[in-house]
Amino acid sequence: MSDFSGQVALVTGGSRGIGRACCLAFAKRGAKVAVNYAGNEAAAAETARLAQEAGGEVKLLRFDVADGVAAAKAVEELVSDWGRVDVLVNNAGVAVDGLVVRLKDEDVERQLAVNVKGALNLAKAVSRPMMKQRQGAIVNLSSVVGEMGNAGQTVYSATKAALIGLTKSLARELASRNIRVNAVAPGFIDTDMTQVIPEAQRQKLIELIPSGRLGTAEDVANAVVFLASREAAYVTGEVLRVNGGMYM
Ligand code: NAP
Repeated sequence: MSDFSGQVALVTGGSRGIGRACCLAFAKRGAKVAVNYAGNEAAAAETARLAQEAGGEVKLLRFDVADGVAAAKAVEELVSDWGRVDVLVNNAGVAVDGLVVRLKDEDVERQLAVNVKGALNLAKAVSRPMMKQRQGAIVNLSSVVGEMGNAGQTVYSATKAALIGLTKSLARELASRNIRVNAVAPGFIDTDMTQVIPEAQRQKLIELIPSGRLGTAEDVANAVVFLASREAAYVTGEVLRVNGGMYM
């Protein structure tokens, strides 16, 4: 199991789902974990409790990742308190599904702001301290639909495809400073985000997955931890698919 002792990991959207599983995975491996969330206090507190139980030191950071000023301030405070930031997981994301003909401007803007600009805000904020340390790993949460598309998710899949471009460009920009940037592209994962899918549609989806099941948040967290770890020291600009064979 990779060891993150002495390291600081910041996970956006760490209160629930994949983000929570990432927080627990880092805590279990000895990292100090900063848990960002948007507003769900109860869920964030539960992540903190579980991460502490797993042996980690935890800090809760409530801010909207789309707000560049708030993101920069939070990272500044984190580095001032804990002295460093080694891992950033850009996990916070929103999906507002619907056909293009019925798109509302506000929903387009919100998905772009949280999923793309949010990731950029955090990457920008951690870049300087990581450059000073000459060490860092950033993992962005893309999606299978960013690569294969999905009717009803035109905007969401566009934001997830954008994260692949962001990952590759930033990987090139930061590689010489020993900062690696990678992405994970999950398939359909059993979290609040996919709870809204009706049971009949769920069964149809499962038929498209060679592994025969939805993924778990832990399946994704394991891939995130690998990309952030020393074991992946020569991996950068990569997109790791965690989708049970749904798209290959
Ligand atoms: P989720 O269960 O819906 O949880 C979303 C998390 O993001 C929550 O912790 C939420 O905080 C946080 N969040 C939302 N907007 C935010 C904002 N503006 N600022 C800060 N935090 C914000 O999501 P999930 O299913 O775990 O997905 C996590 C990531 O994986 C997303 O980027 C998603 O697009 C991607 N992904 C998911 C799947 C899937 O099948 N589930 C597949 C592929 C990719 P609060 O609790 O405070 O609301």
